[in-house]
Amino acid sequence: MVERGTENPCVGGSTPPLGTNKEKNSKQKVFIAVDIGGTKTEVAIGEERVEKFKVIPTPAEFENFLSSLFLLIERVGKGKKIKAIGISAPGPLDPVKGLIFPSPNLKWKEAKIKEVLEKRFTLPVFLENDANLAGLGECFQGAGKGADSVFYITVSTGIGGAFILQGKIYQGASFDAGEIGHTVVLDNGPRCNCGRKGCLEALSSGTAIAKRAKRGLKRYPHSLIWQLVENRKELVDAQVVVKAVRAGDEFACKIWEESCRFLALGVANMISLLNPQKVIIGGGISKAGEILFRPLRKMVKEIGWKRAVRYCRIEKAKLRNPAIVGALVYAKSKLSSS
Ligand SMILES: [Zn+2]
Repeated sequence: MVERGTENPCVGGSTPPLGTNKEKNSKQKVFIAVDIGGTKTEVAIGEERVEKFKVIPTPAEFENFLSSLFLLIERVGKGKKIKAIGISAPGPLDPVKGLIFPSPNLKWKEAKIKEVLEKRFTLPVFLENDANLAGLGECFQGAGKGADSVFYITVSTGIGGAFILQGKIYQGASFDAGEIGHTVVLDNGPRCNCGRKGCLEALSSGTAIAKRAKRGLKRYPHSLIWQLVENRKELVDAQVVVKAVRAGDEFACKIWEESCRFLALGVANMISLLNPQKVIIGGGISKAGEILFRPLRKMVKEIGWKRAVRYCRIEKAKLRNPAIVGALVYAKSKLSSS
C-alpha cells in the first residue's frame, strides 16, 4: 500500500522556502520535527525547510527523555503557530498506534510517544521510522529531487532503507518495507542483529566493517591500521578503515572491497526488483565519498540486471539531517490528507 497524501513532494519541484514577509510574523504556521537517535535527539521547526534546530542527548529512561523533549519543543516553537509534530525514530515501530518498540538503539519499553505528545501539546503527531523519513527528506529536498521512484539506503552502524514512490513512503504490510539491511546476501554468513545469518547489515555496515577489520588485523602486522589506532585494536572502527583505504593500505582495501561487493549485491538485487530511477546512499559510511561510490557503481553494473541498472543513478545523499526534513514533510502531508 502506498501511503496516500494530497501532494507529491518529489515530482514537480519544490515548495518555495520560508521567508516571505507574511511568513516571518510571529504567528507563522509551522511544523515541529523530532529526530530521535540512540545517543542524541534533534528538534527542528519549519514548514518544509528547517528554520532552526536544537540537539539534546537521548536519555536512557523514556520519562527523562519526555521531560527534556517537552521543554525543547516549547522553546523551539515559542511564539509560533504549530500545526503538527512529525517524529522520526529508529524502528521497529508502529506508525499507526504511535509506538516505538525496544531495539538495540533505543531500549525504552514500548514507548507511547504519539499518545503522550498529542496529550501534552493538543496537536496531531505523526510517527515514522528514521530511514523512511530520511528517504522522504532526500527525495523532497536532496539528491532525489525530481525523481519518481527513489530507493534510499543509510549505511552507518546499521543499514536501513526506504522506498519512496511518487513522493510517498511505501510502508508495506507490517510497516517494514525497504529494509534492505535485512536482505540475505551471503548464505550462512555472519549473524545479524535480527537473529538471522548473512544479512547485508552484518556484512557492509560500519559495525560489520570494524568487526572484520579487528578480526583479520593480526594477520597483517604491517597494516597502517595498527599505526592509526596506536596498536590498540579495540579502537578500530569503520572510519579508521576508511582512512587506511585512502592511504592505499592492502588489508584495509581488502576489507573495504568485500564490504562494497556485498553492498553492490544488495543494491543490484533491489534494482532488479523495484527498478527505481535513483538509489541514494546516506549515513556515516557514505561520507567516504568516491572510494565507496566508484567501486559500488562499477560492481552494480557488473552484477545487476542491465535493463534496470541502465536507468538507475546511484548518488550520494545531500542533506545534513534528511530525517528531520522528512519529518517536517511527513507531518505536513499527513495533516493535509487526514
Ligand atoms: Zn538481519
